[in-house]
Amino acid sequence: MKKIIGIDLGGTTAKLAILTFEGQIETKWEVPTSTAENGEAILPNLQHSIMSKLTELNLTTADIHAIGMGVPAPVKPNGEMSVAANLGGFGGFNVAKTFGDMMNLPVILDNDANIAALGEMWQGGAKGAQNVVMVTLGTGVGGGVIADGNIIRGFNGAGGEIGHMPIVCDENFTFTCGCGKKGCLETVSSATGIVRVAKQMLAEETTPTTLDQFHPLTAKDVFDAAKNHDVLALQVVDYFGQTLAKAMGTLSAVTNPEVFVIGGGVSKAGAIIIDTVGKYYYDSVFKAATSGVKIELATLGNDAGVIGAAYHAHMYQA
Ligand SMILES: [Zn+2]
Repeated sequence: MKKIIGIDLGGTTAKLAILTFEGQIETKWEVPTSTAENGEAILPNLQHSIMSKLTELNLTTADIHAIGMGVPAPVKPNGEMSVAANLGGFGGFNVAKTFGDMMNLPVILDNDANIAALGEMWQGGAKGAQNVVMVTLGTGVGGGVIADGNIIRGFNGAGGEIGHMPIVCDENFTFTCGCGKKGCLETVSSATGIVRVAKQMLAEETTPTTLDQFHPLTAKDVFDAAKNHDVLALQVVDYFGQTLAKAMGTLSAVTNPEVFVIGGGVSKAGAIIIDTVGKYYYDSVFKAATSGVKIELATLGNDAGVIGAAYHAHMYQA
């Protein structure tokens, strides 16, 4: 059985892996991403690194079925990638075709949020499920929506951009999002959003709290304080969970996922997230859409990208 290659191209490094056809990582390594001159060295560097690694392992491209690659920009179904700001302007052409010609192998390209979702569906927190929503809680809120095994991309490729679901109605917490609109999920439920809500509550509340000791305050401080029963921190976490649950409930009424996978830096807070979100989710959303639905923490960590990219390679049929 041939092997597959997964690449997760990020702004500072590209993560690469050679996997079995069933999705087990055999070798993984990293290559620095050179963003100079519109990232013109990115593809040659990847090519060189893969060829060296194959030689080192006594393999050739004939042993590889296909390459999957995730990139931090929207991708059209034909492999054309939009320009990525954090890759120094790399993109704006058919990266799948160009890199495929360079490697003499099929290359399947997708957005990095989508491949993380596919990775968790294939080998991670949603293993075995065909209807999955991945929620990545980082500086912003990213997402990937998989319905009946297929990634939802939509008209402009913005399907699954759940961080911009306009669901925050509370006037005290309707902050302007990076996208320019107000009320987006990520203005409240991302790491930056959690800190923003905490600061707003700190400015208004008279409740004694340990949160005013932190300069700068981080989302981790808020969760740690909540775990120590700090009343204000618990209110912030509660609002975070309530808002995220509302977004998840809305998604449930649309695609009825079997599993929500919660990943990203904020998810390291662990069970408190699942507990808080679950409390509101199961209480407020109609039964037919939530019955039997699981909310899980992501399990693949930094490997989600290469595994999800490799999922595309494994699905490739000539
Ligand atoms: Zn937004």
